[in-house]
Amino acid sequence: MTHTAVVVGAGIAGLAAAISLARTGWQVTVLERSPELAEVGAGLAMTPNAVAAFRGLGFGDDDVAALGYPTRAGGIADRAGRPVLTLPDTPVVRRSVGLVGVHRRRLHAALHRRALACGVEVVTGTAVARVEPGEPEGAPAVVEERRADLVVGADGMRSPVRAALFPASRPVYSGYSSWRGIAPGAHGTAALQQYWGPHAEFGIVRVAEEETYWYGYVAMPERTVLADELGAARERFAGWAGPVQEVLAATPSGAVLRHDVQHLPGGLPRYTNGRVVMIGDAAHGTLPTMGQGAATALEDGLCVGLLVGAPVATGGRLAPALDGFDAARRPRCRALARASIASGRFGSHLGGGWRQTLRNSAMRLTPAGAITRGSRAVMGWTPPEPAAPVPGTPAR
Ligand SMILES: Cc1cc2nc3c(=O)[nH]c(=O)nc-3n(C[C@H](O)[C@H](O)[C@H](O)COP(=O)(O)OP(=O)(O)OC[C@H]3O[C@@H](n4cnc5c(N)ncnc54)[C@H](O)[C@@H]3O)c2cc1C
Repeated sequence: MTHTAVVVGAGIAGLAAAISLARTGWQVTVLERSPELAEVGAGLAMTPNAVAAFRGLGFGDDDVAALGYPTRAGGIADRAGRPVLTLPDTPVVRRSVGLVGVHRRRLHAALHRRALACGVEVVTGTAVARVEPGEPEGAPAVVEERRADLVVGADGMRSPVRAALFPASRPVYSGYSSWRGIAPGAHGTAALQQYWGPHAEFGIVRVAEEETYWYGYVAMPERTVLADELGAARERFAGWAGPVQEVLAATPSGAVLRHDVQHLPGGLPRYTNGRVVMIGDAAHGTLPTMGQGAATALEDGLCVGLLVGAPVATGGRLAPALDGFDAARRPRCRALARASIASGRFGSHLGGGWRQTLRNSAMRLTPAGAITRGSRAVMGWTPPEPAAPVPGTPAR
């Protein structure tokens, strides 16, 4: 018996879930609101857990290499470029905070190609508004007019699926907006470099030999309209360290985006409702201060296949499989969201004056080993084994 899943949203989480489910034999349809599947966005730094999840979807060494530029976290400097925390280039550091600098478009395209190769149907130009969650051991779920054994809510931070099923959980504005750009050429150092200033952070990481991603994350009133985004970014970061000026000067004006950053404090009280499982930003939209949004989206997507798809495909019940997913994912994503808030308070959200001096002095005394040990706890995640089926009433 083939089980059917409808995934709402063809972002990183949705495509990862679609691949993972299809690999366990499910028939999967992805419904995407955009008329075309062309990922906007600039870059991101894939941490070891993101790479582990990507590999769990069946990608190999060549696929990882094709995504971007292998690098590592280099450390943090103040806005003038004076080192605050330096991570040396050692095997331990590479294992703990090794990174792949990636253009989002390449990651998204790789997931899309793999989904199609796994037999996933991707339907664009379909904005889902109606979801009936059904019951895990009873009525099927209904998405628009489609009936399904499982629905995956992967429709991002402003998720209409979440609004329908968890109306009390709403995203809030973080108080910060983020420019993101791609500059041709190699800029900054070979490692990811972050610069912290009062209520602001700038980051630079290569995403190819001759392509550099940067972000500028700053306090700003919500829905601020700027006539010239690149000009405004250059003005905001005027006087910051040399590499910041250089990468901004090398960026063409059409290569800059800015998004107001939202998050979902506390995340959802539960990641499942009826036959619906919520993943990615729809379930736990997190501040970007630890760079874990896309990483957890990949982890979630993979786990939908391993913890729900696999046991149900081999005759298990859906309800315990969904419980297993919630138990595996919610504590981890909740802890990461809390850590991201704490990291923001200490890092890019910190005010000026003595606070910066005190924080930077404390950081200069912190041994790099303490940072890499802390990172390993988050980024040392590896995929779980596929869950064993719990026998009983079949999933439909
Ligand atoms: C400034 C900033 C920097 C970041 N940096 C990093 C980083 O370095 N590393 C990292 O790991 N993460 C980073 N992130 C986070 C990361 O970008 C997101 O967390 C991640 O992309 C979430 O993926 P998703 O698939 O859940 O959601 P999305 O990527 O938002 O995808 C949701 C999809 O659902 C579709 N959709 C929406 N509504 C509907 C509907 N009604 N019907 C059908 N389809 C619908 C959308 O069109 C979209 O395609 C950053 C985020 C920000 C804001």
